[in-house]
Amino acid sequence: MRVSTKDYWTPKTPCPHCGFVMDLATGVEHDDPPSAGSVGICESCAEVHVFTEELARRRPTADEQIEIDADAKVQQCRRAIKRSKS
Ligand SMILES: [Zn+2]
Repeated sequence: MRVSTKDYWTPKTPCPHCGFVMDLATGVEHDDPPSAGSVGICESCAEVHVFTEELARRRPTADEQIEIDADAKVQQCRRAIKRSKS
């Protein structure tokens, strides 16, 4: 798993799960900035969020959640964050 060395500023918005405020996004396996519909992972609780048009963070819809749960890369990334927290 390769984490990009490029960080992108986003509007300061809280994690929709735990309220942790984030203002940075970093790509995993790519160097692109986040855009509407990009999936992000909270660095505090390791739950998944989706970026809006304004790059705020919202909870995934039920359909998105199914896709996210099936994405091995996202799950690998969540496990890495959880490990780093314990
Ligand atoms: Zn969180």
